Amino acid sequence: MDKCSTCGQQFPETILKKMIQIIDRKAYLNKICPSCQSIVLNNPNYYYFIEPKEPINLQKS
Ligand SMILES: [Zn+2]
Repeated sequence: MDKCSTCGQQFPETILKKMIQIIDRKAYLNKICPSCQSIVLNNPNYYYFIEPKEPINLQKS
């Protein structure tokens, strides 16, 4: 169980969505529950947090 960063309620970690909140050029990692996601998605300061499965290759082939 983990806490939703917005409403503070407890949820299983698999339900909570990792989202980044940008405040003053700083990125904060938040865990957002399903009911808060609809609110947060209307806020342009929030972004989805995606963990890359493979190393990102910056070299051009
Ligand atoms: Zn919530």
